[in-house]
Amino acid sequence: MQPGTLTRPELTAADRCDRCGAAAKVRAVLPSGGELLFCGHHARAHAAKLRELDVELQSGA
Ligand SMILES: [Zn+2]
Repeated sequence: MQPGTLTRPELTAADRCDRCGAAAKVRAVLPSGGELLFCGHHARAHAAKLRELDVELQSGA
């Protein structure tokens, strides 16, 4: 358990898509507390699966 992790920093230009290395536009927070970063393309590509997993999507700047 990691208390106090609900507040996450905003995505920045330094954050990269976990799939292709492009600038991350969306953070996907998993029910387990883990997170994935996606560019716009991969966020759309994985959107259906992420919803299925009850992932919370947070849009960055
Ligand atoms: Zn990507």
